[in-house]
Amino acid sequence: MMFQKKEEIINPFSLEQCTSCKKMSKRKFKEGDYVFQTSTCSCGGKSMIIKIFGESL
Ligand SMILES: [Zn+2]
Repeated sequence: MMFQKKEEIINPFSLEQCTSCKKMSKRKFKEGDYVFQTSTCSCGGKSMIIKIFGESL
């Protein structure tokens, strides 16, 4: 994760997609998140982080 030395504030998000039901969900980036990290989806399948990005406020 790189942060620019600017005054704009970046709001990092993690985009997850379930490998079973294909549901995508965007949530706030948490310390320790990385691309291809997996978690359990509400359907019981594996949800994987496919993208981490930031938004300017
Ligand atoms: Zn699912």
